[in-house]
Amino acid sequence: MRIELSDSAVKWQAIARAYADEYLQPHEVEAELSDGVLPDEITRRNKQRAIDLGFTAIDVPKAYGGLELPLVEQVAIWEQLGRVTNALSWCFPEPQTWMFEACSEQQIENFILPMMRGELKDCYAITESGPGSDVAAIEATAKQSGSSYVLNGEKWYVTSGNLADFFWFQAKLPEENDEALFLVDQGSDGVEVIATPKFSHSYAAHHPTYRFTDVEVPLERRVGKPGDGMAFTHSWFRHERLMIGARCCGAAARLIEEATRFANGRIVDGASLSEKQAIQFMLADSATELWASRLMTYEAAAASDRGEDLKALHNRCSMVKLFVSEMANRVADRAVQVFGGRGYMRENVAERFFRELRVDRIWEGTSEIQRLIIARNLLKRGLDNM
Ligand SMILES: Cc1cc2nc3c(=O)[nH]c(=O)nc-3n(C[C@H](O)[C@H](O)[C@H](O)COP(=O)(O)OP(=O)(O)OC[C@H]3O[C@@H](n4cnc5c(N)ncnc54)[C@H](O)[C@@H]3O)c2cc1C
Repeated sequence: MRIELSDSAVKWQAIARAYADEYLQPHEVEAELSDGVLPDEITRRNKQRAIDLGFTAIDVPKAYGGLELPLVEQVAIWEQLGRVTNALSWCFPEPQTWMFEACSEQQIENFILPMMRGELKDCYAITESGPGSDVAAIEATAKQSGSSYVLNGEKWYVTSGNLADFFWFQAKLPEENDEALFLVDQGSDGVEVIATPKFSHSYAAHHPTYRFTDVEVPLERRVGKPGDGMAFTHSWFRHERLMIGARCCGAAARLIEEATRFANGRIVDGASLSEKQAIQFMLADSATELWASRLMTYEAAAASDRGEDLKALHNRCSMVKLFVSEMANRVADRAVQVFGGRGYMRENVAERFFRELRVDRIWEGTSEIQRLIIARNLLKRGLDNM
């Protein structure tokens, strides 16, 4: 299934594939059977290899020593990393371009460049229990008091909170009728884990609930200028939604390959499973839907690289997230069916992806929220401007 890519994208694709195949994939079952946690030396080795390959610098501007890869090339990388279960590819920090637009030079020096060097890891504290999907309605507050902001709020599902060195904390500024992100050190006075729920997947990265009570941060920890509001959170959403699309394409490709290999080798009724039309149809639908998904994901990335209209790009990232995450879930369901009872074993890649891909229809905005964004765009701007 070929998509025309630049030589550089093909090179990065091969680098990421080799990394996924050699460093990550061999440890999936071990991770699955130990709550996602690998021995320290393996985790350290995988992180260092990712840094050496340049993965922490792919979305960093050249002016700061980064690689500043076009988004198409970043998609080519994340598609390959998406082939691996148990989030083993989350072993390195990911500084992103928007951070260099949002942050002051001091913040870049103290937080973002150390991420590129692998010295610091971040996590996002945005979602709250009450407003949930309605991110605009969050209730966490930041109030200025002398040379500090005082932060209060409760944040749910903070992915990697157990591994991160600092939070991006989203809060309202009631006195300014504004809102902003704040950089908060892990372990600051007033930051408390109030729950570490178990989720369907087995990941080393947990998603704890945090309470922030009168947490004081210096004024310089506010990200962006007054009036920026949620602009940078939206930049993050766009990036993540596109990369969820990329990872889901990689997962679907792996599932189709593995299910096809199994169907070819498994003999039932004196013939190989792959000769049964019922099985062929599941594989054919999966391959067709994957091709459509890859085309839209790479095209959305290319549109971003061409610098097209931001509202249209926001809409297309929602379309990618919606369509590709739902495609990957259908493919995982079919793959389990092709494997039969074997597909229900945790040692089987189809079983793991069947559980793990479910959250791609929920986080970074549920499928319903993506549909609302797309419908609003259609109704306001018309089909030609989406
Ligand atoms: C494993 C995991 C990791 C996560 N990591 C992070 C993280 O690192 N940082 C972070 O800030 N958040 C994170 N999240 C939060 C995630 O983004 C939210 O769970 C998601 O946005 C949905 O919010 P909610 O769970 O409150 O669901 P709700 O908002 O309560 O939604 C419940 C249901 O109602 C539907 N719904 C809601 N509003 C509407 C509407 N207007 N129209 C139609 N249907 C609607 C939803 O689609 C959903 O089906 C994570 C979540 C999970 C599960």
